[in-house]
Order: sequence, then C-alpha cells, then structure tokens
Amino acid sequence: DQNKFQAIISHCKEYGFVFQSSEIYDGLSAVYDYGQNGAQLKKNIRDYWWKSMTQMHENIVGIDSAIFMHPTIWKASGHVDGFSDPMIDNKDSKKRYRVDHLIEAHAETLPEGNRDELIAKMNELLAADDLAGLKTLIETYKIKCSVSNTANWTEVRQFNLMFSTQVGSVAEDASEIYLRPETAQGIFVNFLNVQKTGRMKIPFGIAQVGKAFRNEIVARQFIFRMREFEQMEMQFFVRPGTQKEWFAYWKEERLKWHKSLGIDPNKYRFHVHDKLAFYADAAEDIEYEFPIGFKEVEGIHSRTDHDLSRHQEFSRKKMQYFDTEINQNYIPYVIETSIGLDRMFLLTICDAYYEEDLTKDGKEDSRVVMKLPAKLAPVKLAIFPLTKKDGLPELAKELMDKCKPAFHCFYEEKDAIGKRYRRQDAIGTPFCVTIDHQTKEDNTVTIRYRDSMEQERVPMDKVKEIVLNKINE
Ligand code: ATP
Repeated sequence: DQNKFQAIISHCKEYGFVFQSSEIYDGLSAVYDYGQNGAQLKKNIRDYWWKSMTQMHENIVGIDSAIFMHPTIWKASGHVDGFSDPMIDNKDSKKRYRVDHLIEAHAETLPEGNRDELIAKMNELLAADDLAGLKTLIETYKIKCSVSNTANWTEVRQFNLMFSTQVGSVAEDASEIYLRPETAQGIFVNFLNVQKTGRMKIPFGIAQVGKAFRNEIVARQFIFRMREFEQMEMQFFVRPGTQKEWFAYWKEERLKWHKSLGIDPNKYRFHVHDKLAFYADAAEDIEYEFPIGFKEVEGIHSRTDHDLSRHQEFSRKKMQYFDTEINQNYIPYVIETSIGLDRMFLLTICDAYYEEDLTKDGKEDSRVVMKLPAKLAPVKLAIFPLTKKDGLPELAKELMDKCKPAFHCFYEEKDAIGKRYRRQDAIGTPFCVTIDHQTKEDNTVTIRYRDSMEQERVPMDKVKEIVLNKINE
C-alpha cells in the first residue's frame, strides 16, 4: 500500500522523527537524519536490543569497534573481491540500476507463472555470475526503466558497494581504507581479545551496534535502504557440530524478541535462502510485511568457521580455542544474527501507525496515532496543567520533577487539552496526565490512555508507578 507508506514518510517528517539529510541543500540521496523524536525512538530500540543481548544472556558481551579498520580485513572477509552488485545503466535516462531490483520490479507486473519463471532465471544467472546472460534477459523481457521508455542499456557491470577514503596526511604515506560495510568484522578480529580477557567459554557471543556504509543504488524506499545506516549484530561462537541446534535456538530467540515488543506476529515470516554462500551451513531471514510488501529485517546465518579461518589465514594469528571439556583445539563455528537498526525503526513505525476515524453522533473526527510499544515510545508521559493559572502549573511541575529522573516526560500548558492529546498521539506517548482544579482539593489527576483514549481519575502519587509498570512490562 504505497499510500500508507507515503503517509508514514510525511508523518515522520512532520513530527520530528526523520528528516532528509542536508534538506536545505536539496538533500543527499539515501541518507537521512533522525529528529528529536526519532533519535530517542532509535536509541530506545538500540538499548532494548543491547539489554536483551548482553544483560539477559550471561554468555554474551558487547564491544564497540572502530569504523576504520586495517584494509586487509576486507580482503580476508571477501568484501574487496565479492561485495558487489551487478548494475546496468540506461543510456537515455543516464540512470543506474541494480539488475536484480530492475528485474524484480518488472516481475511484479507479470502474471504469477511468468513472474516466477523470470525470477528463477535471474537467480540462476546471478548465481553463475553471468553478466552477459543478465543483459540478454533484460532485453528479452523488454524491461524498461521508470524514467525513459526506451530500453537502451549498457553492459551489465559489477560495482563494489564499499566506500573508500584516504588516511594519512601527506600523499606519499596516504593509504586507501574502507568505511566498514558491516559491523561483524570488528567482532571477528576481536575474537581472541574478548575470549582471553573475558575468559569466555564456548558457547559465547559478542554483540555490537554501529554504523555501516554501503554505496547502494536505491529505489525510493525511505530509510529501508540507506547508504549510511546502523547494524545490531551478534556473533555466537560454538563448538563445531553443534551449529544446527544453535541456529534453531537463535531463530526462535530472535523471533521472540520481535514478538516481545507486541508487534503484530502475523506480519512476520521466515524466508529460507535458496542459494547459500559456499561456506554457509544455513541462512534465513526474518521478514516483516511492510506497507511495501514482505521485506527482510534481520538475517540469521550459520557461517561455519569461515570468517575466523580467513582471518587466521590473512593475519597469520591462530584463531583457535581450547575446549577443556573435550580436550580439543578448534576454530569455533559461528551463528550470526544481524538486524538493521534503521530498518527495525521503520518496522516499528509502520506497525504503530494508525489513522482512526472517531466520528460520533454525526460529528466528524479523526486522529493519527502511533501505538508504539510503551518501552520504545520517545516520550512516556505528557503532563498538562488544565490552565496556566491558579497554581496548576506549579503542581504539574512538581509531578514533572518527580517523574523525569525515571523516564522521559513532556510538559505543555498551551492550547486546548484535546489538541494537546492529539499531538501526543501523533508521537506515540502512551500516557497523558491533566492537572485541574480538583487536583488542588484531593490530589487526584486525570490519566488518559493513548490507545483506548479512556480517562481515569488516579492519585497523583500513583502516576509514576503506573507508567513504570507499563514500560517495564
Ligand atoms: P539486502 O539484500 O536487503 O541488500 P543484505 O542481505 O545485504 O540486505 P545483510 O548484509 O545481511 O543484508 O545485513 C543485515 C541487515 O542489515 C539487514 O537485514 C538489514 O536489516 C540491514 N541492512 C543491510 N543493508 C542496509 C541498508 N542499505 N540500509 C539499511 N539497512 C540495511
């Protein structure tokens, strides 16, 4: 549903969640900034992931490795030679396309049988690295680009997705390094450091959150595919031979995490990769049904000892572990869980966004509400004095001072209460409290719940506890 997707994009801008990067200079393609509400929501997702990985699993620790890394790492990881997508340029429109995106978009318009046939052929050619075959396929199916109707294509070429830059101050000793296209390699190259200094026993995991950069050729999909984004990755090191069980464990564990946020479970599915990398033992994606269709949010991969072996080969440092239980030395196998923070942000927003018709007794009314999980909402509690006088603001400030060390509160005394409620609905604040003249008499306030819009009179001293109970649920 493109309309819903467009509405969500506009909403994200209007309410300070996501802005186009460098907007006053007409923007930078596939790069975005998070605004006052977006940055907080993103931080809350990141913190929730971090806590559930590190604090809730006694055998997982977190690290924070640098974005710049030794260039040989990307040779060892295979990114220098293999991290590329086949691209094609349209000579008339001068636009560049990712071949798979172009073909997939075209396939959408075909009847089901033909669609499957086209995708199957494409996958075959991609797997065989047959660039000429891909070009022929594009021509045979008369695939056009969205800008120009003429199908005047260049050859298909491989483009590496890594950004590179120079380090060093003078030209002579400058050397080319890459901006990391994933955070995982920072974990692999610190495997020995963490295992030894943390006295970690297998099975154990290392988690990390950080920026990654890919020179993506993108269709307009908002923050779904960005050139600068954040990943939350965890590498779990296991004894060879136990990887099947651990893969099954992490699949379940990760789906549980998504469900623990109260996100609609019917919108999730697993996608089993049809073609595995030569070293991989298993690979599945967790997909979510975005308004633009089912798309990957997270990958769960059983990667054998491939990564550590490659680093052993290139660094000539032994990447081995001595397993005292079986008296054996080995290179551990790895199960990886990898989720995009920005993509999870988009998922959260899409799942929470509702346009509700509130027409009652012939009186037209509606609202846009973000039913965000309370633990992720950027603001947990909004506090409103009914009027600006009669000591009501003072009472409201008192509640504010009591609650703000515990969670994020927002204070506002302008406009009618109804309007203030609507603004909080739009950013997903789960609770609003109004202080009125009765508060002065009996110390009670009106608490209003975002989703049901119900209101209740509760003692002012109970407010903090009510909110805390909900966000710690
Ligand atoms: P795709 O096939 O969509 O390009 P991928 O399979 O290359 O993705 P991975 O390398 O497995 O993705 O990265 C793990 C996760 O990182 C993805 O599931 C996604 O959530 C996130 N991610 C990857 N690329 C991007 C991007 N360009 N923008 C935002 N998030 C991304």
